[in-house]
Amino acid sequence: MRVLLGMMLLVPSVVFCGELTLVEDGKSSWRIALPSSASLVEQTASRELSDHLFQVTGARLPIVAEDGRVDRTIFIGAVSSLPKVDVSRPDTIVILSSGDSLYLSGHPRRGPLYAVYTFLEDVVGVRWWTSTESTIPRRPTLRIPAQKVVYSPKLLSRETYYGDALEGVFSARLKNNGHMTSVTEAYGGHMSLIGWCHTFAQFLPAEKYFKDHPDWYPLIDGRRQAGGHLDFQLCLTNEEMTQEFIRICLEKIRANRQTGIISVSQNDAFTPKACQCEKCVAILKENGNAQSGPLIYFVNKVAEAVEKEFPEFLVETLAYQHTMTPPTKIRPRHNVVIRLCTAVNATQSIRNGPDNRRMKQLLESWGRIAPKLYVWHYLANFHNYMIPYPNYRHFDDDIRLFIENNAVGLFAQGDKFCSAGDFVRARAWILAHLQWNPELKADDLYREFFRGYYGAAGDTLLSYLELLSDAALKSGHRLSTSGRIPPVWMSTEVLREGYALFDRALALVKDDPVIWDRVRRERIPLDVVAVNVHIKSLRQLRFEGAKESEVFLLQDAKQMIDDLMDLVAKWKIEYISEGGRLGGYISRMYDNLSKGQPIAPAECEGLPEHRWDAFQENRFRLAGPGEWAFLVDDPAASNGKAVYMKGDDKEWAVQVPLMQYPTNRPWVFYYAVRCEGNADDGAAFTFGVHSQVTGASQGTTTHLVSECKGKTYKLFKSKPIDLKGDEYVWFAPPARPRDQVDKIYFDQVYMIQEEMPVPKEH
Ligand SMILES: [Zn+2]
Repeated sequence: MRVLLGMMLLVPSVVFCGELTLVEDGKSSWRIALPSSASLVEQTASRELSDHLFQVTGARLPIVAEDGRVDRTIFIGAVSSLPKVDVSRPDTIVILSSGDSLYLSGHPRRGPLYAVYTFLEDVVGVRWWTSTESTIPRRPTLRIPAQKVVYSPKLLSRETYYGDALEGVFSARLKNNGHMTSVTEAYGGHMSLIGWCHTFAQFLPAEKYFKDHPDWYPLIDGRRQAGGHLDFQLCLTNEEMTQEFIRICLEKIRANRQTGIISVSQNDAFTPKACQCEKCVAILKENGNAQSGPLIYFVNKVAEAVEKEFPEFLVETLAYQHTMTPPTKIRPRHNVVIRLCTAVNATQSIRNGPDNRRMKQLLESWGRIAPKLYVWHYLANFHNYMIPYPNYRHFDDDIRLFIENNAVGLFAQGDKFCSAGDFVRARAWILAHLQWNPELKADDLYREFFRGYYGAAGDTLLSYLELLSDAALKSGHRLSTSGRIPPVWMSTEVLREGYALFDRALALVKDDPVIWDRVRRERIPLDVVAVNVHIKSLRQLRFEGAKESEVFLLQDAKQMIDDLMDLVAKWKIEYISEGGRLGGYISRMYDNLSKGQPIAPAECEGLPEHRWDAFQENRFRLAGPGEWAFLVDDPAASNGKAVYMKGDDKEWAVQVPLMQYPTNRPWVFYYAVRCEGNADDGAAFTFGVHSQVTGASQGTTTHLVSECKGKTYKLFKSKPIDLKGDEYVWFAPPARPRDQVDKIYFDQVYMIQEEMPVPKEH
């Protein structure tokens, strides 16, 4: 029966009539046929099909060029006998049986390969869980029902930003095709966005242009500024700047015209500084005071010029930070793509979550005016990948809502830099499947992945996800892309229940070492939390007079840290956050286990234990050890060891992380420092205490060479500082020539609490 399809189906559908027996008892008379001049993708598709069918059935189907024979043939790609089907929409797949032949085809770029993958997954039962782990069913006799699938994904750019999911072949199997993936052309290639994002400073660096063209940069508080950092945007109504920006864009597009899209987007800023000039402000006011007004005004001009030379080319911009609110008057041109970044309480869905009303409104209002919307969806705690992050529940509904509001692309940003965060493999697999087909239910995908990948432990681990989701939701806490460890929503009861579930899960798979390892790896975030809670309990015992019965203490914290170190090495887990090394983070836990300090500095002698703590080099955190910070023997130091930084640097390369200290109490910091060099005056170094909760530093002070030059250490004292949480003390060199300030040495740091409530008896 030949089937002609005039319309595209919304979801994959399968019609059962007339079985095909591809292989019987490991033997087959079928073959795989390619067009006479097959594309790279068609060739890859035929190989992937042949290899997988061989693994499933034991029969090797030969790959041939089409030769007029149509029976017992699986046709790949644009063969001459392919029934007429509209495959013009990108990534359309066709899976179609006709008589005793089968067609796996689609849009020329990736369709045939995606059709093969869909066929292998949905019909044959192959599962690629990760880039290296699959379930291949054994079916020596392979009978399949008649096939009639034509499907086009609504999201044209699909991207799941987890480390393993970016690997080229796995990415193709997940049907991910976004900018960051490494899919080669043989596997269909991927979308590429010139500049990726934050291109203002990339294309018009202030170091190059500001001196001659201050007017291109924003007018802030009466003067043109570029600041030397990314907070400063551009004067978006400056005509000369616009022309230069257009010239640069056109140059880049001419060199990369196959990419199809260029980013014209704002800098990534802590506090974005937009232009206050008369013209920019006039457009701002016309647009309901939305900073997206001047932005779209500028982007439209670039897009208009781009269209003249490249009519099909798209121009992307960000709706992010200060530009998230849409303009009330101006409209993005038809060739402009708005990439809207999400900011949500991740325990709730965007559609129904009371805390996410604003985000939903933004999505809907951008969806109404943007010809094409592309969503940049944050899905992890970027300050700490090793925190359980219970946003598991509504991936599906959020993606459906994006598509209802015109989204044609999604960047699902997970913790790409971590090979073992909070169920990163499951997230990557589930999110990729939902991006390809948003009609699927997340619950079904969870069940499938967890049972398939964690075997008998799967359902117990799903209960663990439920436990965490309920706890986070009930706490009312806003789960966002930054959050502290231990998470405030996680009570010690939840921690204990979490361990009970993991104990059960591990027991269920104790006879299968491969699956046991997978389950044990997923406990790492819980272990990191547990050690932190243990350290916090030690602080509560020491500084707050808590009783042992009131706090959570591990039986053997040192053993747990040993195990963590082994697991970090075993799974090659590098980062705890963007740029933060996990190995160093965990090894510092050892130094935070002791309740007291062996040597009390003179200032602390006689003080009760709860009023002070001290830090030698073993509790320092060095950025770029051997490059920016150097551990050395120094007879002048209190314990014969010190750390130095070079005078011509400016990095905060010597830090003292303050793990789990009580907040909102005044602490005075003491730091012993000396410097060497020829200068007798001017800056020697800067001290500060930075909170990762507030994103700000306190007590920042620059000290002078005249105060600390020489061979003996000078003891500095800060003003009282109220800790706000997740702090570290930092020191920065003065960025002066080495012949002025050569080296700055740091011996020890200690902190003394100024005033303190009388601790309870215990
Ligand atoms: Zn301006």
